Amino acid sequence: MIIILKQGVSALEKNNIKKTLEEKGFIVKEIVGKEDTVLGAVGTASIDPRSIEVLDGVSSVVPISKPYKLASRELKKEDTIVSVRNVKIGGSRIAVMAGPCAVESEDQIMRIAEKVREAGAVILRGGAFKPRTSPYSFQGLGEEGLKYLRKAGDAFDMPVTTEVVSPKDVALMTEYIDMFQIGARNMQNFELLKEVGKTGMPVLLKRGLCATIEEWLMAAEYLMASGTDQIVLCERGIRTFEKATRNTLDCSAIPVVQKLTHLPVIGDPSHATGIRDMVSPMALALIAGGASGIMVEVHDHPEKALSDGPQSLYPEQFERLMRDIEALAPVVGKAVEKMPRRIPASMKEGAKESTIKEGEDLVAFQGERGAFSELVIRRTFNEDQGVLPCKEFKDVFDAVAKGNAKYGVLPIENTIGGTIYENLDLLNVEDNITVVGEAQLRVIHNLIVNPGVKMEDIKRVYSHPQGLKQCKEFLEKNLPNASLIPFYDTSGSVKYLKENNIMDAAAIAGSPAAAHYGMCVLKQSIETNPKNYTRFYVITRKENADVFKSAAKPNRASMTFSVPDKPGALFAVLDILQKHGLNMKKLESRPILGKPWEYSFFVETELSDEHDLDSIIPVLKENTVSFRILGTYTAAH
Ligand code: PEP
Ligand code: MN
Repeated sequence: MIIILKQGVSALEKNNIKKTLEEKGFIVKEIVGKEDTVLGAVGTASIDPRSIEVLDGVSSVVPISKPYKLASRELKKEDTIVSVRNVKIGGSRIAVMAGPCAVESEDQIMRIAEKVREAGAVILRGGAFKPRTSPYSFQGLGEEGLKYLRKAGDAFDMPVTTEVVSPKDVALMTEYIDMFQIGARNMQNFELLKEVGKTGMPVLLKRGLCATIEEWLMAAEYLMASGTDQIVLCERGIRTFEKATRNTLDCSAIPVVQKLTHLPVIGDPSHATGIRDMVSPMALALIAGGASGIMVEVHDHPEKALSDGPQSLYPEQFERLMRDIEALAPVVGKAVEKMPRRIPASMKEGAKESTIKEGEDLVAFQGERGAFSELVIRRTFNEDQGVLPCKEFKDVFDAVAKGNAKYGVLPIENTIGGTIYENLDLLNVEDNITVVGEAQLRVIHNLIVNPGVKMEDIKRVYSHPQGLKQCKEFLEKNLPNASLIPFYDTSGSVKYLKENNIMDAAAIAGSPAAAHYGMCVLKQSIETNPKNYTRFYVITRKENADVFKSAAKPNRASMTFSVPDKPGALFAVLDILQKHGLNMKKLESRPILGKPWEYSFFVETELSDEHDLDSIIPVLKENTVSFRILGTYTAAH
């Protein structure tokens, strides 16, 4: 049953309710939701709900109609997000797990791990204990396989999962792995479920070969009742009369399960189809159907694989599939879960500031060393590029205008915070500056501390106001009593903690800042919304414009203009863009400095080979009071 607590219930009242239920033989789980806090009470005992309803702090008692209780959506409305080390599964994320069917040798798992990590997988799979249909087939390397799997996971910084087939292996396996996999053949091995559940570790629970959805959820209930709430369900095809594929992928199980449970559900198109060419299309079908991820088998020599070669993707096929998933993700309102980024050596602590060579062309950015903008520079130019950190955005413009830096990299807009108007205005004013490039970066926020500082030591959290805002959910849940202190810069807040050796506070910033100042990332990717991207412009003086441009023809143009004060003036300009087939990507209006209540407009349009911008500019000039192309460049997305 579900015990809905009153708003503002005291800790004492809550403990009393829990104690009463436990004394009656119930297992009690507390679920803190967005709207209310509830207690789930499950067990074999039967009591009159009214005896609980009368307790102080109880608002109401509702029975759970489904046979699975803790796994039921009735008990917990919000999606459960499963954490496997620093990888999150569920909600609006898509997590991809990949690797060979079986660990065959140290060399094999190392090679394949590198390939799948490079392509974008976040969890490494590989069987060490293989439940094979024939006793004469390869049974797995056992503990040796676990060792190799762990080694590969550590080498490429990936959590690892592998199948457990016997309760007697559970304790041993906890030393090597990050997530248990319960295979289809063992879904109803209740002794195994209980033993694994007791570890409290994350579990990937495959659907049994002939299991109904309800039986599958009951297996999850076993795990939950035994002590873990970190369960990921995995649809892997069921046995039907159809023989064309190894199993029949039950895609509709995904939305059905999502209705019934709060646990995340992923799909395994490899075991579902058993045929290499069908794996990628079915992986996409699963994602399109709402799956929180996929598990795929990948092998670099599938013809020699000791198990499941015919269904294993070649690494190149897996790479292509990852790109397709990336493209599909926004269509279903999700973002692909990514591994922490590789940080260039030039951004790590101890990298000499003196890498800046005499007379080198510098690239200016706003912020302290280790800022997201610096990472963008190292990706756009090269890893050892000499950089010029500037205090303000205006200083970046000045450095470029005066020739102290050849280029500048500036944020223009963020998918959550919107346009950074200050930079649009500065572009409007500095007419010798032009935009020559664009870059995009996913903003990943981390909780960063001095080495040795633990969660419970944190009394204050420093960051740029945007950083604090974008991590609100994490802070409320994990550090409800910490004071939030706005700072001028995210990486600046890391620098401040480092320089003052502050041991009772944390900063929110990117991992490059932690690396640069030799600080620790206590919690990674703590932003509420993973679809947090910032778009940057690369600016330079007009005379350098052609030096930067790549061989590719620009496919974007940015322009600014003001229009006469008469009806339809803006419409006339937009009409010209439309008549010339220029697809507008962005439109902003900004107040003109010194001219109260007059506005300039900022427009970005697509450009293609058919567009002759030079012939359109005179027409635009005729219809505007002032007009300027801010730059043409290749779009980053
Ligand atoms: C596996 O993942 O290698 C496996 C044996 O899967 P299943 O249990 O789904 O058959
Ligand atoms: Mn397999």
